[in-house]
Amino acid sequence: MNTQTSQPIPKVYGWCPGALRPMMSGDGLVVRIRTPLGRLSQKQAKAIAALSQHHGNGLIDLSARANLQLRGISSQSHAAVIAGLQDLGLLDQDAATESRRNILLTPFWQPGDASHSIARSLERALNAAEDLVLPGKFGFVVDAGAQPHLQNCAADIRIERCGDTILLVADGAQTGCPVTVETAAEAALDLARWFLDHGGAAQGRGRMQALTARRAAPLSHSSPRSSSAPQPSPGMTASGQLVALEFGQITAEAFATLADNGPLRLTPWRMILVEDAQELATVPGVILDAADPRLQVRVCTGAPGCLQARAATRDLARDLAPRVPKGQILHISGCAKGCAHPGPAALTLTATATDTFDLIHHGKASDQPSIETLSASALRAAPDILTEGS
Ligand code: SF4
Repeated sequence: MNTQTSQPIPKVYGWCPGALRPMMSGDGLVVRIRTPLGRLSQKQAKAIAALSQHHGNGLIDLSARANLQLRGISSQSHAAVIAGLQDLGLLDQDAATESRRNILLTPFWQPGDASHSIARSLERALNAAEDLVLPGKFGFVVDAGAQPHLQNCAADIRIERCGDTILLVADGAQTGCPVTVETAAEAALDLARWFLDHGGAAQGRGRMQALTARRAAPLSHSSPRSSSAPQPSPGMTASGQLVALEFGQITAEAFATLADNGPLRLTPWRMILVEDAQELATVPGVILDAADPRLQVRVCTGAPGCLQARAATRDLARDLAPRVPKGQILHISGCAKGCAHPGPAALTLTATATDTFDLIHHGKASDQPSIETLSASALRAAPDILTEGS
């Protein structure tokens, strides 16, 4: 199933919001916070919750690049949010640095290990590289623990483990170039310059994967990669307890409560790792059970939070989650863009109008539907329609 529908083409912005360069959405400004090393101290996390409550709508998103998004910030209160982030040490010197410092770090790092050391060096190198003008979505992954966990996360340049070796990988390539903890950051910047020098961002946009599909990575990239570990589930890890956020969002109040238990590490899986936590009490909207059916649903902001959304999505996701067959993913998308799950899913509902969805089997949000114009109430009344004939 991959024939595109004739739905309106959603707008592609080509850049991501930041704190200094927020994006207007249906519920106000979205202020995205790129936390250094993907970690927040308890004090920082509680202060972010307070900023959300005082200046936003009290809702915080966790993005697929492990960034936090404060929602519902008004133009008038943006300056106060910036001042608050500055006080917390969470602000870059300018919007260009913020955009360039796009690093996704494995949440399972330990202080002083290869991932931690490389990420710190890469942060410093990117902060200093003022000449490096990369496309807005261009990003780096640092994943040098015992086994890579982030191979399925979007990135342009990857630094990942393969046995005893650390490899630098241009996204899309099946091989990489051996580097060391000491050389990895500079080598990553050299690869970013190779991307620019070889026309990777001809009109200021472009991704590494598109470039490596057109031409081979540099000759030194000849070492084979290893395979990725499966995506982890909520539960205990060596670094603390992993918990999932219902559909990637949490209230500010619940976020502050979570931080009572320890510093927080942000992950790209809509999960937060609570450092050193043992037994967590129930927190509203926080999923502790790896068998919770809500983990089988991917859902975007939808209406009214997204300006492009054609229908609300989250209440429907909550209602349909228990009806998703085990092992399958249901993707509910507010429009054909499919932000929450860009790839195919067993079941996809794409909003086409207020309260109306197309059902796609084994495809993406923009693919040809199996059944058109299903109302949300019909889906709730007869959820078996999701799997009939699939
Ligand atoms: S997929 Fe969802 S979040 Fe993305 S643009 Fe469409 S409605 Fe908005």
